[in-house]
Amino acid sequence: MNHLLEVKNLQVSFFTYAGEVQAVRDVSFTLAKGETLAIVGESGSGKSVTSKSIMRLLTQTAKIKQGSIMFEGKDLASLPEKQMQNIRGKDISMIFQDPMTSLNPTMTIGRQITEVLRKHHQMNGSEASRRALELLDQVGIPNPEKRLKQYPHQLSGGMRQRVVIAIALACDPQVLIADEPTTALDVTIQAQILELMKSLQQKFDTSIVLITHDLGVVANMASRVAVMYAGKIVETGSVDELFYQPKHPYTWGLLDSMPKLHEKTEELHAIPGTPPDLADPPIGCPFAARCPYTMDVCYDHMPPYTEHSDTHRAACWLQDSRAPKIDRPQAGGE
Ligand code: SF4
Ligand code: MG
Repeated sequence: MNHLLEVKNLQVSFFTYAGEVQAVRDVSFTLAKGETLAIVGESGSGKSVTSKSIMRLLTQTAKIKQGSIMFEGKDLASLPEKQMQNIRGKDISMIFQDPMTSLNPTMTIGRQITEVLRKHHQMNGSEASRRALELLDQVGIPNPEKRLKQYPHQLSGGMRQRVVIAIALACDPQVLIADEPTTALDVTIQAQILELMKSLQQKFDTSIVLITHDLGVVANMASRVAVMYAGKIVETGSVDELFYQPKHPYTWGLLDSMPKLHEKTEELHAIPGTPPDLADPPIGCPFAARCPYTMDVCYDHMPPYTEHSDTHRAACWLQDSRAPKIDRPQAGGE
């Protein structure tokens, strides 16, 4: 398969007063043209750090220790910052959870869009203004002429996120990284923004890395999923494989914690316990402290990946041929 983006054995650590925190531990995945890969996991699982590594937007205290991020023959993990600036926002764009973090409160919407166009496309003023209008129209902002002259605070949260998407798409990027793009929005607006992303993706054939903790969003948007836990990908597969034949107890727990459509109570079956301290990660399975199926081997040895199809693999000792046969319990009911 032809991969647009290939992350291999990525390791990222934060260096703090308390010592080294291993936020991303040996993460590998690929992204094909036009596909949406969802990275799911709880907060602190390393999903945002992974995406920020691709954009090379890590804070000063973080360092890519090992691994490669191949994009069009270049390794973004080690590319000089000057060259990275030509890729960031042009070939690879990012949308964050809070639109206000990407928008400049002191600049009009119009100026923020035209600056991107002028920087990356060397458009002159009137060309850029025309294109800005077109972009606002494409992301479904009514009355774009008026909006161009407004400041971010004059727009609703949903409209602001549409502007952020317009800016992200201004340069027709090949890869769009969306980190919890709808988490800060209310449910109806959330659905509208997701629909918008989907339709724009079909139109422009953009590849999307979608970071989320919401499996409902995954089911709606993604073709493939990587489940992250404690800095590692513990299971990866197609959406169908993950939802219908999940292999990893952590994935089982995540699926069980999804609110069911017909369930009367709002109660979530959250997984008891907390993730391990990545300043001192366990040598064995990172999920061992919370897993209901732990065996001795789990504490002492990191589970290897087992392949269940070309696209589906999981890191759990239950998949070893010597382990007892345990299937996902029918918890919560369907
Ligand atoms: Fe549970 Fe062991 Fe599998 Fe880890 S390797 S998820 S502790 S059964
Ligand atoms: Mg995050």
